[in-house]
Amino acid sequence: MGPGYIDAPEEAAEGQGLTQGPSPQGWRDILVKGVTTDSRRASEGQLFVPLSGDSFDGHDYVEAAFRQGAAAAFWSLDRELPAALAGKPLVLVEDPLEALQNLAAAYRSELKTVVVGITGSNGKTTTKDMTAAALGSVMRVHKTAGNLNNHIGLPMTVLALAEDTEAAVLEMGMSGLREIALLTGIAKPDIAIITNIGDAHLLQLGSREMIARAKMEIAEGLKPGGLLLVSADEPLIAAELARATLPEGAQVRTFGASPRSDWRAGGIEVGAESCAFTVKAGPASGFRLGPIPVAHLAEGCDATGECFPQVTIEIPVPGAHNVYNALAAIAAATACGVPAEAIASGLRTMQLTGMRIQPVAASCGAMILNDAYNANPTAVRAAVDLVAGLTGYRRKWIVLSDMRELGETEQELHRETGAYITPDKADAVLTCGEMSAFTSAGAAASFGTLAAEAVRHFASQELLIETLSAELDARDLVLVKGSRTMHMERVVEALQR
Ligand code: ATP
Ligand code: MG
Repeated sequence: MGPGYIDAPEEAAEGQGLTQGPSPQGWRDILVKGVTTDSRRASEGQLFVPLSGDSFDGHDYVEAAFRQGAAAAFWSLDRELPAALAGKPLVLVEDPLEALQNLAAAYRSELKTVVVGITGSNGKTTTKDMTAAALGSVMRVHKTAGNLNNHIGLPMTVLALAEDTEAAVLEMGMSGLREIALLTGIAKPDIAIITNIGDAHLLQLGSREMIARAKMEIAEGLKPGGLLLVSADEPLIAAELARATLPEGAQVRTFGASPRSDWRAGGIEVGAESCAFTVKAGPASGFRLGPIPVAHLAEGCDATGECFPQVTIEIPVPGAHNVYNALAAIAAATACGVPAEAIASGLRTMQLTGMRIQPVAASCGAMILNDAYNANPTAVRAAVDLVAGLTGYRRKWIVLSDMRELGETEQELHRETGAYITPDKADAVLTCGEMSAFTSAGAAASFGTLAAEAVRHFASQELLIETLSAELDARDLVLVKGSRTMHMERVVEALQR
């Protein structure tokens, strides 16, 4: 955050007197250089925000924050002030979390930064990393660290933006309605992206239609004249778009496999560690954001109506779904005026946040695709398609554990996901976890007579590891996937030992 001032009573600076009840005389400015919610990190000049959860109350750490050098802290109006804090520069607020969010919104409104907000059921973090990479060759970019995409992480990311940040790429996650509305209201994106609609958070939202509705909330905070980029491959998005009210002058563009997409990919080559493709962009993709801080304007459209040069795009991640994530990133960077060559070079050398289809070698020499970061039916199908498309392996293994938060139909969703794996896509399916017994049953149904050999469910992760380690060969490919809390990275680690 750029430094900002808050007013505090003069006496407070001397370490005496009360902060409640503004006194018209004797206020002085306190310089705040950043915001933290962790008292241990409340170094000099930080504003400490006491957040509370079920098992902790941030107000208990305000004193510690001052000892660490905090310049000021929020304090809830309804709390009694302990004597030790009398005279400290406290900002009295109704709710520290809400105040944090309001502060972030106010700071954002002062920034000239181009903001790209990204939501969707799958691919947010990947698309965030890709967009930051696509912009990064020519713009000073700040992106959400890791997966800090919620009602605390997003405002903290906004408040961490340096004043001279030219582009901020912000991930927005949700588990219920109006959560994206809150985040987009803070971030006020110039460009909003919806990667796709999947089944994640079906438990909380009840239907895929409601999931689509929740994602479309991102348009509510879009700036007038901004760009909404959505997947063309999801009919529910089109349905929600028809209901949505977009801000004045905002444009919608689509990306995806559908021939109707404004941004498509051609000549797709999917490898085990990377993908390559060219971009097909029709005249509608020539859209540029209004005045932007850095104008590295790309070429216009050529005589055939192609608006993106025939540059080969290489991304260091496998999976056709990542081609579409990259298209969204390319569309966003193009709208910012970043030239195609700069986009291509940014993507070629991009850094991905770990455990998203990460190719790693097993100690026996087999190729592991580590996708243990998370799982839901859409993401598993995307990963299965990736495995299906890879050739040249002796044996292709799909190792799955439970998908969480799927709601009432979780058994059926596991069974359907298993049934999606057919013998032409993989040679073996190994599962562990309570719900994965249904995945295994689904896969067994589609493997038919081959199932006895090819599909196996294990009572524990340890047993699965034992079998897999014994049977895996240097010429094999193995995909490992499961919800975060299933800790399938332990399978990957075991295979690497
Ligand atoms: P989270 O909700 O956990 O933050 P996310 O939306 O940020 O997830 P990523 O971390 O980018 O998603 O990717 C998680 C997994 O989702 C990937 O490993 C991959 O299996 C799958 N995935 C990524 N992009 C897509 C896509 N466009 N369509 C379907 N599945 C995808
Ligand atoms: Mg994420």
